[in-house]
Amino acid sequence: MTDSNDIQFSRKRTWSHDLPISYLMQQGVENPGVLSLAAGLVDQNSLPVSITQSAFQSLFSDPGSAREALQYGTTAGSLSFRKLLLAHLSHLEQKSAEELRMTVDNIIVTTGSQQYLSLLGEVLLDPGDICLVAAPTYFVFLGVLQGLGARIISVDTDESGMKMDSLDTTLERLEAQSQLNRVKMIYLVSDYENPSGVSLSIDRRKKVVEIAQKWSKQHRIHILEDLAYRELCYDGPVLPSIRSFDQTGETVILTQTFSKSFAPGLRVGFGVASKSVCEAISDKKGNDDFGSTNLSQHILANALRENLYYDHVEYLRSVYREKRDCMLDAAETYFSKLKNIHWIHPGGGLYVWMTLPDSIETGFKSTLFQKAIHEDKVMYVPGELFYAYDHGLGCNEQPAIQKNHMRLTFGVQNSQGIQEGMKRLSNAVKSFI
Ligand code: PMP
Repeated sequence: MTDSNDIQFSRKRTWSHDLPISYLMQQGVENPGVLSLAAGLVDQNSLPVSITQSAFQSLFSDPGSAREALQYGTTAGSLSFRKLLLAHLSHLEQKSAEELRMTVDNIIVTTGSQQYLSLLGEVLLDPGDICLVAAPTYFVFLGVLQGLGARIISVDTDESGMKMDSLDTTLERLEAQSQLNRVKMIYLVSDYENPSGVSLSIDRRKKVVEIAQKWSKQHRIHILEDLAYRELCYDGPVLPSIRSFDQTGETVILTQTFSKSFAPGLRVGFGVASKSVCEAISDKKGNDDFGSTNLSQHILANALRENLYYDHVEYLRSVYREKRDCMLDAAETYFSKLKNIHWIHPGGGLYVWMTLPDSIETGFKSTLFQKAIHEDKVMYVPGELFYAYDHGLGCNEQPAIQKNHMRLTFGVQNSQGIQEGMKRLSNAVKSFI
């Protein structure tokens, strides 16, 4: 008898099993010689060690502030930190808080933006409710939705992000099927999508607010805007959020993180929503952990207040711009002669999305993945993970799973590792062309 034979797990437990992220991490551990173009980690060498050290020193030089930081905080997060977040958002949008229709009361600090995404799913979605997503999109959020028993509907996407005519038609179809009352949200990673690297065009940012409001007939359909990669922009300024086009300030819920632009180990993210949604999230969070790490918030507050944060982001942009260019150059060198392979040039973020001919599958069980990992010693993330899967719930109306993509990241490896990884990968792919 195995350990789990006599355990009666909850129904919810059965909706979250065999997580691909666990499998990927296990592959990394079991195959130490493998060069990873898969791990979604940030660059190890550019982590802000001295800024964090001086923030700690400054905090601990005053016993009063040190004690405050070592004490429990509040569920919504430190008030002085939330004030800085408001100023930070104003700075990024180049608009005042009034113009953005937000106050500190609209902000909740969470343990990474992942916690905000989960909490929001918990308070808005019942099993069987519908969330519309881009195809492909961030697979951990797909896992969150599946774990809640939500139905995921994929909407067509091109190089300017989710297609608005497809979104409108999907909502029209759902209304005709009397399912509109189950639609609760539209999830969008507006900037440098994980995995495809594409950003939603400005026109579409305006349009999606209009569409969500038009179809909010029986109840509000929220847009959940995930801005995880917002500040990692390499070819131009930070883009205006979808939230900035929301005249009501109530349709769009925005979430952002310091994981990519500063340090994921601090686990600090936050979200902005209407007062009623904040209240719901705060009640749930109160039951879960009654507040995220107070100490991390004090460290980040110090970095923001002293402008050290903004200097660091500038520095990161130059580091990642170089690494992005290195990966694109290596793609040109090693893949351009192979037929029917193309990839997207991302303007920011951490990922390059590569498409192989339709006949070449890239999944965990595929011959390509197994050859890459065991013979060529290189790892990527199979593209099919980023499409909504039906985990036995029978809930995905349009699975639209494409099996011939790879997500590659230039986050972790240095330029030598990126070049060597791309060379190994092209060797793996070559034998299938
Ligand atoms: N959203 C997206 C699109 C991500 O890629 C990630 C992390 N990889 C997150 C949210 C969550 O990150 P964190 O919890 O570290 O803020």
